Amino acid sequence: MNLLKRRLSCVVMAIIVLLTASCVPAENKKEDKLNVTVTTTMLYDLARQIGGKYVNVQGLMGSGVDPHQYRASAGDIVKMQRADVVVYNGLHLEGKMGDVFASLEDYGKTVICAADGIDESMLIKHDGVYDPHIWFDVSLWKLAAKEVANGLSKADPDNAAHYAENFEVYDKQLTELDKYIRKRAEELDENQRVLITAHDAFSYFGKAYGFKVMGIQGVSTAAEAGTADVIALAQFIADNRIKAVFVETSLPVKAIEALCEAVRARGFETSLGGSLYSDSLGDETNGTNTYIGAFRHNTDTVIDGLKGDDEIE
Ligand SMILES: [Zn+2]
Repeated sequence: MNLLKRRLSCVVMAIIVLLTASCVPAENKKEDKLNVTVTTTMLYDLARQIGGKYVNVQGLMGSGVDPHQYRASAGDIVKMQRADVVVYNGLHLEGKMGDVFASLEDYGKTVICAADGIDESMLIKHDGVYDPHIWFDVSLWKLAAKEVANGLSKADPDNAAHYAENFEVYDKQLTELDKYIRKRAEELDENQRVLITAHDAFSYFGKAYGFKVMGIQGVSTAAEAGTADVIALAQFIADNRIKAVFVETSLPVKAIEALCEAVRARGFETSLGGSLYSDSLGDETNGTNTYIGAFRHNTDTVIDGLKGDDEIE
């Protein structure tokens, strides 16, 4: 009986060892890179900036994909299970992915929630719910970067110094980006700083850089009330002579066009100021496949559009 017990416990131990070995990026696997699976394109860029040559990063969502609506496929679950580390935004940005992150954590996987690096007091709340668009304030994204660096170091202590070093370098680049945004924003008068878009993604941008932010979709959920809100918004644009409103790459242009039309009916001409990368980065062709590239593009598009001068590139 005792012998059987001992044999059984040996088998159990072997299984645990095997499982542990497959979960942890073991110290013995020095040649191997850490496999990191992330949800959004912003996190794809972030994990690569911090992980550098020590990680393989795999993203679940492509460019132009709306993370609020994204559902994980069976293939996505496999990718996350096979990864050494999983990174997600949190604050219910990936709202349709359910409790997949919690269950991965239960199985001993290193799971990094980028928003965990940010103190709740710094978050914006709408109707009692935290706004997940934390990447639109560079100072908050720095904290998310630090959280990712800490998580990678924990999962791969051998390379912790490299992750810390990469973070320092990237943190400086983010400081430069922040300065650039503030410098360009100064080109506008206080009353010109009004950012009107299709959905309510830019609250953090508004708070950090001194813009009043208004979104067509954010102001209402009911279709009937929506029409009244669009009329009120159109009147506001005409009254304040706001020179441009903006399209988002991940959302249809229709609602914004209807808004321009309603403004025109009130005797003022506002233009489509260009496309902004809101919940997804762009691609390599115009350099918007990085967070810094996309944010610079957004900043230039907004400032040039609101100035309404001939300097638009
Ligand atoms: Zn959004």
